[in-house]
Amino acid sequence: MTINFTEGDERRALREAVAALAGKYGHEYFAAKARAGEKTDELWAEAGALGYLGVAVPQEYGGGGGGIGDLAAVCEELARAGCPLLLTVVSPAICATVISRFGTAEQKRRWLPGFADGTTKMAFAITESDAGSNSHKLATALHRDGDEWVLNGGKTFISGVDEVEAVMVVARHVDATGRRLLPSLMIVPTDAPGFTYQHIPMEVLSPEKQFTCFFDDVRLPLDALVGSADAGLAQLFAGLNPERIMAASFATGMARRALDQASEYARTRTVWDTPIGAHQGIAHPLAQCAIQVELARLMTQKAAALYDAGEDRAAGEAANMAKYAAGEAVAGAVDQAIQVHGGNGLSSEYGLGAMLAASRLSRIAPVSREMILNFVAQHTLKLPRSY
Ligand SMILES: Cc1cc2nc3c(=O)[nH]c(=O)nc-3n(C[C@H](O)[C@H](O)[C@H](O)COP(=O)(O)OP(=O)(O)OC[C@H]3O[C@@H](n4cnc5c(N)ncnc54)[C@H](O)[C@@H]3O)c2cc1C
Repeated sequence: MTINFTEGDERRALREAVAALAGKYGHEYFAAKARAGEKTDELWAEAGALGYLGVAVPQEYGGGGGGIGDLAAVCEELARAGCPLLLTVVSPAICATVISRFGTAEQKRRWLPGFADGTTKMAFAITESDAGSNSHKLATALHRDGDEWVLNGGKTFISGVDEVEAVMVVARHVDATGRRLLPSLMIVPTDAPGFTYQHIPMEVLSPEKQFTCFFDDVRLPLDALVGSADAGLAQLFAGLNPERIMAASFATGMARRALDQASEYARTRTVWDTPIGAHQGIAHPLAQCAIQVELARLMTQKAAALYDAGEDRAAGEAANMAKYAAGEAVAGAVDQAIQVHGGNGLSSEYGLGAMLAASRLSRIAPVSREMILNFVAQHTLKLPRSY
């Protein structure tokens, strides 16, 4: 049996091409757009037209026919170049994946070509204010009324609602007897009557904003349902595991950027007789961060390889672990990069202060580190469930 710890030529070429594109824009572009309340539309459009955003969409719909490992490489290189695009974690990774795995022929024809070239963006909504991390408490409800579905409820912290055509909403199907069944996935156009949303001001420097969504008797055609009602968790996790792999890549990309910047600074900044990087108090923590980042990248690549091999259960465990490792790695790397820069670590010029909130996000979303530890304790270590 062959175990390969290096990426193939095609994946490496993809990384180089994405890095070149994102490098053309760079962090200054990303930060200026975010500060002006504008979107990074030019970068998104170019990445879409070049096939990077659709790299995992099946070829018959105009995509690259690759896997989540390829899309994760795209996400990581964008973040490393200073352009971490949150919607890559959601639109191509969750929504396109779920539709290509469980959508009807008509849904695939309707949506996948737009995901393939990036012209379609879709948000994903699972989080609810009262349920939080407890997805068993999801209250957004879906019931059938003749030849329509009716959606009621609300979601919170949903990214990108103001810039997408539709939101994939996780709702509980309520049957004719009033029984709440397993989660269903609904495609809800953002202009559907009864769907409203409100911006949540956040301290994360990002062109992509978060919203609270309200669904008030939103009527949807029967084909708004992706897959089957109540197919529930298997279908949901077919989208959530890629999301975790992407979130991990988003984090390792950002961590690599912070370490690149810190190493460059430590090689050149001299306040005694040698560059500060010659002091082990500066060099060793950076070396430790580099090891943590590399461990997280390996876990992420393993999770993606398992997912792409169709091993959903094993991919779930690996994706959770990778997401945890990457969250810790980026939080540590950004913190250390700030320390290496001294006062400059918090100056606007060096952009590290702005990375602080974004790096902390990796410990919270899309699933918090505590919920991952719960998962590993329960499923990997077979410990009693604590909640
Ligand atoms: C910038 C940003 C973008 C987001 N984008 C999206 C999006 O596009 N779509 C979407 O659906 N959601 C999105 N989210 C929501 C995100 O997934 C949630 O914030 C996250 O899952 C945590 O849920 P919560 O905020 O309700 O925290 P809570 O569930 O209230 O948790 C609060 C704290 O308690 C801990 N905790 C809770 N239960 C337990 C337990 N049993 N054991 C130990 N500790 C526990 C948590 O780990 C956390 O530390 C986004 C969030 C942010 C900040």
